[in-house]
Amino acid sequence: MTLRRDCPVCGLYEPVLVYRQRFAVADDGRRITGYDVVECGGCGAVYADGIPSQEALDGYYAVASKYEYLECGGQAPASLEGSHRDMVERLLPLLPDQARKIVDVGCGNGDVLGLLRRAGYVNLLGVDPAEHSAAAARRLYGVEVVPGGVLAMPPTAAQAGCIVLSAVLEHVREVAQALREVSGMLAADGLLYIEVPDLERFACDGSAPFQQFSVEHINYFTSDSLVHAATAAGLGLAQTWSALRRTGTAPEPVVCAVFKLARTVVGHGTRDRVGPAAVRRYVAQSEALETVERARLERLTAAGAPLIIWGAGTHMQHLLARPPLADATIVAIVDANPRLHGVVVAGLTVSGPESIAGRDEPILVGSPAHEREIIDAARRVYGLENRFVSLTPPLAADCQTL
Ligand SMILES: [Zn+2]
Repeated sequence: MTLRRDCPVCGLYEPVLVYRQRFAVADDGRRITGYDVVECGGCGAVYADGIPSQEALDGYYAVASKYEYLECGGQAPASLEGSHRDMVERLLPLLPDQARKIVDVGCGNGDVLGLLRRAGYVNLLGVDPAEHSAAAARRLYGVEVVPGGVLAMPPTAAQAGCIVLSAVLEHVREVAQALREVSGMLAADGLLYIEVPDLERFACDGSAPFQQFSVEHINYFTSDSLVHAATAAGLGLAQTWSALRRTGTAPEPVVCAVFKLARTVVGHGTRDRVGPAAVRRYVAQSEALETVERARLERLTAAGAPLIIWGAGTHMQHLLARPPLADATIVAIVDANPRLHGVVVAGLTVSGPESIAGRDEPILVGSPAHEREIIDAARRVYGLENRFVSLTPPLAADCQTL
């Protein structure tokens, strides 16, 4: 089920198609099965059109977590902690009063709040739609997290001195409504910190082609379009800067911006200067890489030999929706991430790697960025001796060239 979507920045519906993203995942009514990446003919903002309703997406996030590290003992990876520390260090000079209320919306396990607590801040509140967040945040950092999100702010967030929205706005269908609701929780002199992936710096270095058009990200902001969206919601820009977020093996460029409540609401009235060109540059780069990848896959699947796939995330869902992999003989799809277990991809139910014990078909590594970790885990944790095949060079030592 998909719905047409007005521009999340200016509200017009004048989509110009840039790229058609599709995923080989079964439609359960709330999961994103694909979308059109479009440029708004009005303001130039780039976003995903044709996605489930906000209500459906909320249902998805209530049971899924945006974090991939739940299987790692519930701890944030060191790389992510580093990114959070960079963010907090940048925010501290803006927050001289340690008694002011700071609210982190979409706080996950409360990692950022934990750092703020260590820095001496005492009035901290986390908000997250995921059911496990409150218990995890209490256990890890002794901070309070309540259920909610940008479109369901808890009353206790009111009069906040600072609200943090990091890795949130790229997931939200109703951006204007979310920004208005969140700003309504700010004290008169409160600050809103927003951090989103930076479309202007999208690149395939270290990540798979089209990875930025993921199964969860539906807004592709530049600093221009982010400021336009915030301005339309009654916010004024105080500061903006660029940073790198390290959630996986490839650092992700992000736009960081601090806003204050504006005294007068003004329409932005201008077009995004860089987004339309940036998204086309990224699509061209992804298509070039994918041509190479497709040739490898054609060689691999030509004989029709059965394959196991390890990795059921964005990249594999994208590849399985297209030839040649859509026509290949796939006998099992596994992933170490429990949030993907039970999801139906290419007609197969994704399960844990232990489910392929005793099978001898070759394993195609579906997540190029995590190839080394996947092979190590397969050998050491699961005791698997299957042959591995890789999507991309450079190949891991015991991976066969396609
Ligand atoms: Zn627009």
